Amino acid sequence: MDDRQGLAQFAIDYLMLQGACAAGVATTETLAGGPPSTDLGYVLPGAKSAVSFAVPLDPVKIERFLAKQDQAGHQDDNIHTNFFVTGLATGLATYFDQRGYPSFGVSANVVYRKDTPKGLVDFMPDLSHRYLAVRSGVGWLGLSGNLITKSHGAAVILGAVVTTADLAPTDPLPPQEKYCDDCKLCMASCLSGLMDKKDKTTVTMGGMEFSYSQRLSYHRCDLVCGGFTGLAQNGKWSTWSPGRFSIPEKDEEFEAALLKGVMDSWPRPQIEGGFHHPAMPGQRKINFTCGNCQLLCHPDRAERKRRYKLLTKSGVVVQHPDGSLEAVTPGEARRHVAAMSPQQRACYEDVPVEAAPPVKRSAAN
Ligand code: SF4
Ligand code: SF4
Repeated sequence: MDDRQGLAQFAIDYLMLQGACAAGVATTETLAGGPPSTDLGYVLPGAKSAVSFAVPLDPVKIERFLAKQDQAGHQDDNIHTNFFVTGLATGLATYFDQRGYPSFGVSANVVYRKDTPKGLVDFMPDLSHRYLAVRSGVGWLGLSGNLITKSHGAAVILGAVVTTADLAPTDPLPPQEKYCDDCKLCMASCLSGLMDKKDKTTVTMGGMEFSYSQRLSYHRCDLVCGGFTGLAQNGKWSTWSPGRFSIPEKDEEFEAALLKGVMDSWPRPQIEGGFHHPAMPGQRKINFTCGNCQLLCHPDRAERKRRYKLLTKSGVVVQHPDGSLEAVTPGEARRHVAAMSPQQRACYEDVPVEAAPPVKRSAAN
């Protein structure tokens, strides 16, 4: 085993020892020709390699989240796994650094480039974890565009360490073993319509091509996954969001819908837990209300279907005055909102202008 291979294997073992379910190595050569978000030099001048890894989310908490029995359990697991992955990346980066290879632990999430035209709100990550992961064989790209692993499907949090150490790259997983069978349950579970039903995006890295469904405006996911709204068109199921603001059809309508969603939902009572996102005005928190496309994508098709059924047969979420959330039948949910004052209703659903009284909001704080 030469040094390059020995160091790469050490890095993989380091991460697997601490709970990663898959890890691999990409290099500036294997990422060559990739999108700007695969430029390792953006985070570390002189970088030669990146170690990519995945840490699984708790499947029991996912089950209870999709069945709308417990929102807080998965929310806490997801937030803490993200922090754990960031910490683990820092741990390996520090180790390498101490051994003479300057390195950088990439944050698992919520880091955006500040040098794009609109800065933070362009939501362009410093590096794309999923591109590094697919090129280094941590998983495949599913039709959803999510990274899907052999053992835990898409229900993982990705991390990466960028280093000046010259590591031997690992191969992508064999395409013929990819479990994604175009079941399209990711699309069926996405109320925002982020994934194009026909068109695909193909990226080339190091001479290899990887495809997934083209993503439409990311403001779609911001609106729904951000928790501002989340009722299915048929009114029979929802995400964990208690909001019912309409979800536009055209990409260009989502920016205004998102702004309206943030402002109109402002007076809602706060949901317990959650996390702080730098794009939220003031110090307002965000809560986990969706993630469906990721959470239901299990390697076993029967399990995927079962999870989809859990999601779509577990009713509609309403919010109580103390901020708590509860899943009830669609009829009960309609009566719950109808019993509110017009002012309260306007925090959850589109109320005709003449019926909506002015609400004091402080989003600019
Ligand atoms: S839900 Fe189905 S179509 Fe979507 S990525 Fe997973 S396996 Fe592929
Ligand atoms: S997280 Fe939710 S809203 Fe965002 S793409 Fe996935 S299913 Fe759609």
